Amino acid sequence: MRPILPVAALLAFAPAVPAGDLTVGFGEADVSPELGKKPVYLAGFGHNRPATKVHDPIMARAVVLADGDDKIALVTVDVVGLFLPTVERVRAKLPGFRYVLVSATHNHEGPDTMGLWGPNPFKSGVDPDYLKRVEAGCVDAVTAADKARTPAAAKIGAASDPTLILDSRLPEVKHDELVALRFEDPKTGKPVGVLVQWNMHPEALAAKNTEVSADFPYYTVKHLRESQECPVAYFSGTVGGLMTTLKLRVTDTAGKELADGTFEKTGRYGELVGRLADRALKAAVPVTLTPFQVRTRAVLLPVANKLYHLGWAAGVLDRDLYPWDSDPTPKEWKPTKDASKPLAVRTEVGYLKLGELEVAAIPGEIYPELVLGKVQDPADPGADFPDAPAEPAVYAQLRGKHRMLIGLANDEVGYIIPRRQWDEKAPYCYGLKKAQYGEENSVGPDAAPILLGAFRDLAGKK
Ligand SMILES: [Zn+2]
Repeated sequence: MRPILPVAALLAFAPAVPAGDLTVGFGEADVSPELGKKPVYLAGFGHNRPATKVHDPIMARAVVLADGDDKIALVTVDVVGLFLPTVERVRAKLPGFRYVLVSATHNHEGPDTMGLWGPNPFKSGVDPDYLKRVEAGCVDAVTAADKARTPAAAKIGAASDPTLILDSRLPEVKHDELVALRFEDPKTGKPVGVLVQWNMHPEALAAKNTEVSADFPYYTVKHLRESQECPVAYFSGTVGGLMTTLKLRVTDTAGKELADGTFEKTGRYGELVGRLADRALKAAVPVTLTPFQVRTRAVLLPVANKLYHLGWAAGVLDRDLYPWDSDPTPKEWKPTKDASKPLAVRTEVGYLKLGELEVAAIPGEIYPELVLGKVQDPADPGADFPDAPAEPAVYAQLRGKHRMLIGLANDEVGYIIPRRQWDEKAPYCYGLKKAQYGEENSVGPDAAPILLGAFRDLAGKK
């Protein structure tokens, strides 16, 4: 909203967009892989799943928000995950922005962008040329969004539905709140765009599908483009711990249950998420999104995961590792090639305060327990570190009017698991005979305490 200016100020020359006024633009770029020349390995499930056709496009979608000349960009790509070095290359091509957040939806039906899903465990599934295209697509989407910027008023709404989530790992904790922002022309009320954030693995098409697809977010975006009559950007939030549609009961309009791994279930689920967003937007309230505050911190996370070590040694995981000396924020950041000593990965955690909206930018798949303050208490005696303190929860730090979490933001370090729920070794929690799924896709048990500690510091700064 524009403040009422004193007469003297009104007489002075006024710029077209005075500082303090929000402008917003949406942009997108199609980064669907080309099939036929080289194999395109689909990411997210087993090795060696080459794509056979493109069902729906893989997109990079961007929202640019500006307060006068102060610009930030939020980008989301329909891929499994993007590493920090990729994000830094995108940022380098976008000067003039205070902050660029690049995230992935964590799509399990798109090309491998991390390396873990090649023809075999020793060969990367990443085509470097394709990764370059994704990076260029992020830059193009942001550039288009920046060009499209127009004065905008914002509304925000939230809606919850636990029946849209199955939590496949004990304890059962769901983050079932969808957050949606709608931007409108302040004079005409004409829609400028919708940003929607939901907490779910895009894996409804499951492990046997060989058609390139953005999974359910394709259908969510399609639904919302029609119902809201504007561009839409879909962001993934809390997807760890594990928020899935697999084995979730989803029925068609006649009440018939739809099977996992089908476009019918995927489409229907995407539409249901779209309708939840419609509900959130129906109850949306005006929100001030200026001024912007952005705080980020680079941290090292020790890599305990032996498979990650092997992948790195084999060149499957193509990113620098750093020596780990028990200090997440060392004075010197010098990559190492020496695998005989403890290793760490460099990542980034972020806190944004956009007027009345606080946003957590978390570089991986965070467990809902760590967002909502529901880490198991007391710990199960079967856990590997039952005496570990519960980490400070993300939402306990966000005390403002409105809040949102973007997961896989600026990196994908895998699952971020509460340390006291880490459970690799027997005896197992909940009397289970074998370990639950999760730890094999996490850098290690120190990721959560380091990331959540850093986030608390960032959010608590005045
Ligand atoms: Zn995952």
